Amino acid sequence: MELQIKDLNKTYSNGVQALKDVTLTIPQGMFGLLGPNGAGKSSLMRTLATLQQADSGSATLGDIDVLKDKAKVREILGYLPQEFGVYPKISSYNMLNHIASLKGVSNKSERKDLVESLLNKTNLWHVRNKSLGTYSGGMKQRFGIAQALIGDPRLIIVDEPTAGLDPAERIRFHNLLSEIGENTIVILSTHIVDDVSNLCNNMAIICLGEVVAKGNPSELTEGVKGRIWKKAIEKGDLEEYQFEMQVISTYLKAGRTIIHVLSDNKPDSTFEPSKANLEDVYFAEITSRMALSVD
Ligand code: ADP
Repeated sequence: MELQIKDLNKTYSNGVQALKDVTLTIPQGMFGLLGPNGAGKSSLMRTLATLQQADSGSATLGDIDVLKDKAKVREILGYLPQEFGVYPKISSYNMLNHIASLKGVSNKSERKDLVESLLNKTNLWHVRNKSLGTYSGGMKQRFGIAQALIGDPRLIIVDEPTAGLDPAERIRFHNLLSEIGENTIVILSTHIVDDVSNLCNNMAIICLGEVVAKGNPSELTEGVKGRIWKKAIEKGDLEEYQFEMQVISTYLKAGRTIIHVLSDNKPDSTFEPSKANLEDVYFAEITSRMALSVD
């Protein structure tokens, strides 16, 4: 089963065009939707999760019309929104039991088996009787995945799931997602490049509502190979470099300012070649567009 999105458009009542002719094919497995804040990721996720209407375009999942057959989509959808509120006083065991019952798992022993397997899968068994309000950020996110998995979803959408997680919690969450991604479509929306390079076989970069790159992360990285150059500079000289060449990113290393420049040829003898990675692809796509939108 594939999710086919075609020419999706959305303009909010304040005039912001959040989605511009978005066209994507999303196969089974982990799909990364990468973009800076305000790119349109949540708008796309909410549309696919049937929580808001698009102005035009289509989305189909197998034979389901995602934009029209909302009830059908909800039957096969697991959604972990960006802001995931929990009832603080209830335990994860009781909450999952309750949601499973709402989702139609009416047989008591079947529900018990389901809840227990979800708690084990998301590594929450040891805290199953603790109230959700006492959970760490990572535990809350894993609980969010547990509830999203009820009903055996074919499409799972997770919106910015690792923001605020510490490194160990992030790794645990990644492992959980990639396990799930083996036989479902999982769309991971994020502004964190590493989340996508570590987890996803397919991806798209979205910026100012438009899909600006799509494909396999290694193939996209291959596309900028041999065109990334680096140099340590004086911080005060940054503007001059930005004026003269296409500086795609700037970062600090051991207190020094390093720039990455995209160029077919070595900008000058003071630059060194830099091994291209997905972050270079990402910044090469978004930096110039974001700069233009500010001007
Ligand atoms: P992202 O998830 O990538 O951060 P969003 O989809 O939340 O991006 O936002 C895309 C653009 O649409 C932004 O400019 C944002 O300010 C705007 N936007 C999002 N939701 C609304 C809304 N309900 N009403 C008006 N503008 C919105």
